[in-house]
Amino acid sequence: MNKLVIIGYEQECTCDHCGRALVHGVRVAGLGTIGADCFNKMVKANRRRFSGNGKPGASTVRDLAKLREFRSDDYLGRMGYYSHAFEFEAA
Ligand SMILES: [Zn+2]
Repeated sequence: MNKLVIIGYEQECTCDHCGRALVHGVRVAGLGTIGADCFNKMVKANRRRFSGNGKPGASTVRDLAKLREFRSDDYLGRMGYYSHAFEFEAA
């Protein structure tokens, strides 16, 4: 299974997937910085995890990137965000 793992957040950058200028970038393990909309397209739908179309949606992706960047592992654990919360199966 090919995984997309969110490892951080970056502001005012360029999408390494489509080359578009970004206000919010999501750092993805091994793939550089990706826009939340591109990231959302790259993940496989999982209807048990997300309602509707089974995708997390760009705003959730951005929120996860910010949590990963700015919060400690300790804080994330206390809030219930374990490592799998930042992992997605690639489409
Ligand atoms: Zn892009």
